[in-house]
Amino acid sequence: MTFDKLELIEPILKAIEEKGYTHPTPIQAKSIPILLRKRDLLGCAQTGTGKTAAFAIPILQHLCNDARPEKGRRKIKALVVTPTRELAIQIRDNFTEYGKYTGIMNTVIFGGVKQGAQTQALNRGVDVLVATPGRLLDLIGQGYISLRDIQYFVLDEADQMLDMGFIHDIRRIIDMLPKRRQSLFFSATMPPKIVSLAGKMLGNPDKVTI
Ligand code: AMP
Repeated sequence: MTFDKLELIEPILKAIEEKGYTHPTPIQAKSIPILLRKRDLLGCAQTGTGKTAAFAIPILQHLCNDARPEKGRRKIKALVVTPTRELAIQIRDNFTEYGKYTGIMNTVIFGGVKQGAQTQALNRGVDVLVATPGRLLDLIGQGYISLRDIQYFVLDEADQMLDMGFIHDIRRIIDMLPKRRQSLFFSATMPPKIVSLAGKMLGNPDKVTI
């Protein structure tokens, strides 16, 4: 299996090629076709498997294919929530790299730093937001972010989120999302609490385990 068999659009294939990748990793080969069909996904996979590209590539393709109004500021249409600043930055970098020929704009927000630069980036308008839970809720509370237009939602490293005590924050975020959306849920392990959270978030998902 090679990337050119995955029915990806030219701007994304070109960016993948420039990174020097010819073959999708197993999670990419399994997940990308499911996600291009706009199915919900429950993915059991660790970091290091190529998981980030497995969700970033199809989301970029959807955003590219969805018509965007010519006028007005961009609205956030894809949201990725991840537990740590390091992961958030890595995920944002993936969206930037695979999206470099798509015109899709992104930004990243996380706690522990002043919010000024983050709110300025948000005010310029982005299609994709990568966020840690606390700062996301904080900036929603201050009116800098609305989740009203989210069509694609990714919860990354769900088990780590629970271990770090983010379960309450995650439930609040999920409750604010539009009901019509594509949802992706990734966790390295699937204990009962995680299965229950996934059940609340996903509608009849396809499952991929690596
Ligand atoms: P991740 O699991 O998303 O953190 O990715 C782990 C590493 O694999 C990253 O350094 C990626 O750049 C790299 N990677 C992702 N997809 C591929 C691929 N198809 N071929 C080779 N390396 C990849």
